[in-house]
Amino acid sequence: MSPSRTPLVAANWKMNLLREDAEGYCEALRAGLGEAESEVLIFPSFPLLPAVAAGLLGSPVGWGGQDLHPDDAGAHTGDVSGPQLADAGCTWALAGHSERRHDHGEGDGLVARKVEAALRNGLTPLVCVGETKAERDAGETLELLRNQLEMALAPIAATGRPPRPFAVAYEPVWAIGTGDTATPEIAQEAHRHLRGVLAEGLGDDVARATRILYGGSVKPHNAAELIAQGDLDGFLVGGASLDAEEFLAIIRCCDANGR
Ligand code: PEP
Repeated sequence: MSPSRTPLVAANWKMNLLREDAEGYCEALRAGLGEAESEVLIFPSFPLLPAVAAGLLGSPVGWGGQDLHPDDAGAHTGDVSGPQLADAGCTWALAGHSERRHDHGEGDGLVARKVEAALRNGLTPLVCVGETKAERDAGETLELLRNQLEMALAPIAATGRPPRPFAVAYEPVWAIGTGDTATPEIAQEAHRHLRGVLAEGLGDDVARATRILYGGSVKPHNAAELIAQGDLDGFLVGGASLDAEEFLAIIRCCDANGR
């Protein structure tokens, strides 16, 4: 990891936890965090946003939405908008998580519109990309990652420079929730490639400044060797983030490497 990029560690709670769990979690996180070097984020499900906002208010921990609709308002039952997330105190939004892509058939064009909506509403997008096992086995990984990232960021590239920073998460689909973590070498290869794609599309300065997180079965026992890779700037953590102590242990690995 580059010393110029502050590590970013994000918890993706997915469709888990209830209000009381969220309240206890925020307390434990605040108590255990101390002087963390890393930037820390929580992505709760939408009904938990008020509990998380109350639990984290005044702390250095931020929070965001797991998804957002490309439009700012309208007849879209079950969706949530950028202005609504901002109103709930969110400063970040995920875009293109593989579970959205696979469960809801979301494609790269829609992901690009979500990225635009986040930026328009003052939210920092965390753009998720990653290949399936079949795509990796077919040798398509690097090309697919290029396509996903270029398409997601096309509206930004078209205007020249990003209006605000964003972050990228490399999340191989075969590693998410499977316990089959990418090796440090596999992760580093993908991250270096993604940074190259950023440099080609948005210039060297943006590529150097943009944090690229790894996600896919990150646990306290494998976080240290992953974060030691030069192009890994933090983690998007699913399963292990549901336990505040496990999440804190992963944050500490990033703190230790970030100095
Ligand atoms: C995720 O869903 O973003 C994720 C990385 O999940 P897990 O850590 O459980 O693999």
